[in-house]
Amino acid sequence: MKDAVARAYLTKLIGEDGLTMVNKAPKGEMPDEKVAESTGIALNTVRRALYILYENGLASYRRERDKDSGWLTYLWQIDLSNIYDVLDVEMQKLLKNLQKRLEAEKDNMFYACADGCGRFLFTLAAETNFVCPICGATLEYQDNTELVKALENRVNKIQKCVCATQGAQ
Ligand SMILES: [Zn+2]
Repeated sequence: MKDAVARAYLTKLIGEDGLTMVNKAPKGEMPDEKVAESTGIALNTVRRALYILYENGLASYRRERDKDSGWLTYLWQIDLSNIYDVLDVEMQKLLKNLQKRLEAEKDNMFYACADGCGRFLFTLAAETNFVCPICGATLEYQDNTELVKALENRVNKIQKCVCATQGAQ
């Protein structure tokens, strides 16, 4: 289950090809060309995926200057040992955002444009006499009970998930 979460996260981050690259890449450090060669993934895709992994603390690189040519080579190393920490941080971020959103939905009344321009807070809707500031259509009260319920469900699910990961460590 945890691995399924990790796989889903990686797929979202670097795509199916990136995930294939991670699975097929030989261990140890090597230039991106060699990663592409040994995994059969296009060099551009490899470069992009390595860089994204690096930005997320899941890969590192070392620069090495070739003594003869003077050229710099980047030696990459994929290292997923931090992935559950990264996932925890992502989960906490997601949880915080959802909780904020949930509070905002609970604390406010929303009015929506009948023509679909968007939804507005009560204060703004009252200021414009319940007329859409974009298109002039009527703003109608929007019952957000279902949305609040859906957000609460997601928050609960993630809280359970976060507790499960922390319990496993
Ligand atoms: Zn409108």
